[in-house]
Amino acid sequence: MSLITLKSRREIGLMRAAGHVVAGAHAVAREMLVPGVTTQEIDNAVEEFFRKEKVTSLFKGFPGQVPYPAVTCISINEQIVHGIPGGRRLEEGDIVSLDTACRKDRWCGDSAWTYAIGEVSAEKQKLMEVGEQSLALTIEALKTEKRWSDVAQRMMDLVKQAGFSLVDQFVGHGIGQEMHEPPQVPNFFSKKTRADDFEIQPGLVLAIEPMINAGTKNVRILADHWTAVTTDGRPSVHFEHTVAITSNGPEILTAGVGDPNFVYSP
Ligand code: MG
Ligand code: MG
Repeated sequence: MSLITLKSRREIGLMRAAGHVVAGAHAVAREMLVPGVTTQEIDNAVEEFFRKEKVTSLFKGFPGQVPYPAVTCISINEQIVHGIPGGRRLEEGDIVSLDTACRKDRWCGDSAWTYAIGEVSAEKQKLMEVGEQSLALTIEALKTEKRWSDVAQRMMDLVKQAGFSLVDQFVGHGIGQEMHEPPQVPNFFSKKTRADDFEIQPGLVLAIEPMINAGTKNVRILADHWTAVTTDGRPSVHFEHTVAITSNGPEILTAGVGDPNFVYSP
C-alpha cells in the first residue's frame, strides 16, 4: 500500500477551514431543498458560493469516461452516489444525497449528507436514521479502536442488524492536499478490509462515507457514466464527513453538515 501522510496540527487547522466552507455549501443547498427545485439550480447556487468564497471545486472536471460536469453530486432515491445535477425537479417524498468538496488554501474538505424532501416513507426515514447513526458510530469508535477494520466491522454490524446493506463498490479515502489520498477507507467489512488494514493514529485524516441500501448492495452505473443506482431500485443513503484523528481523539472537520442550526461564518 502506498504511503499514508500524517497531517500536522497546523495542516489540520487548514483542513478545518476547507471543511467549514464545505459545511457552508451544504447550508446553501439545504435551504433550497423543497419540492419543485431542480438539481441544477442547487448546483448553480453551490458553484456561486464556492466562487464567492474563492475556493476550488474538487468535483468539476474530475476525470472519468467523461469529466464530471458539476460541483455537486445530487443522487435521488435509488441513486446511490455521483448523480449529475440537471433539470429534474425534486418532489415531496424524495430523499436526496448531496455530496460536495472543495480545496481552500491548498487543503481539501469533502462531505455528503442525505436530506428528506417533506414527508418520506417509513423505510426511507429508517434508512436515513441508520445512515446517520453508522457515521456517528464510526467516529465514536475511532476514539478507542486501534485498527480501521474493527471500526468497519462495527459499522457493518449496525447496518446488518437494521436489515440494510452497505455498498462495497466504492470506498472512503484519505484526504489532504488531494481529495483522494492513501489509505483506501472501506465503509464495510470484508476479508480485504482486514488485509488492507491501517492503524488509527494522530495525524490521520479520512473521508468516511458509508453508503447504505435498503435492499441489495448491488450497483449499476447509468449511461451518463457517473450515476450509480441500486440494481433493485430500492432507496439508498450516503453520509460522509472529513475526520481528523488528533491526540485528543477524532475531530469532524466538516462539522455543521447535517445540522439544521449550523450557521456559516466566512
Ligand atoms: Mg464526498
Ligand atoms: Mg469522499
